[in-house]
Amino acid sequence: MQLSGDLLLTLQEVDERLTKKQQQLDQLNAELEGQAEIPVLTERAEHERETSIERRAHLARLEVDADALRERVEELEERIYGGTVTNLRELTAVEEEQANARRELMQAEESLGPARLAAEDSERAKEELTTTLAERETTWAESAPKLRRQSRAAAKEVAVLEQERAEASKNVPADELMLYNQLLFRRHGVAIARVERGVCLACHITLPLKEASRLRRSDAIVTCGNCGRILIPS
Ligand SMILES: [Zn+2]
Repeated sequence: MQLSGDLLLTLQEVDERLTKKQQQLDQLNAELEGQAEIPVLTERAEHERETSIERRAHLARLEVDADALRERVEELEERIYGGTVTNLRELTAVEEEQANARRELMQAEESLGPARLAAEDSERAKEELTTTLAERETTWAESAPKLRRQSRAAAKEVAVLEQERAEASKNVPADELMLYNQLLFRRHGVAIARVERGVCLACHITLPLKEASRLRRSDAIVTCGNCGRILIPS
């Protein structure tokens, strides 16, 4: 047990470094792939630019409509008060038409305010996004080469550690290696636990006396009844 226990401990130590390095590499690659969110920001900026154009066009249409209605109201007022309409029935009809045009004008003017605000909001959002995007692009241009260098270096170190791992697992008995690998996966990278004064140092459970003495005497692998890890006496 002592011999393969040492082998497993060495393997665990290599695996810890390998896991850490692999995480570092994954992190670097994720950052490289994400490109500081530039593609997402570009898409959002483009969307905001389109929205801004649509809202400005909508506002312009509303303004044209309101102007036309204003003219129409004035025209009708001229007719009513200009003295050209003398027939009472015609006058009533023109007055009715003018009241309708006024109502429409009021409605058009009421919708102008919100439309103007919406257009301004959109314009502001577009400008903010464009600024953020420009800043990100500058930062990215500076940081990307460094990230790529770090990623390449980390990949090399991972390859070296994988080599080291192959070396360290070479002399571990096949069944122990299989158990170890399963535990490594199930126990998130820590397959081995040291035991001190009868306590598993991974899950802090006190081993039953029988197990503890088996661990001291036995040549076979003893696993923790609680966390399942391979136990190594201190
Ligand atoms: Zn345990």
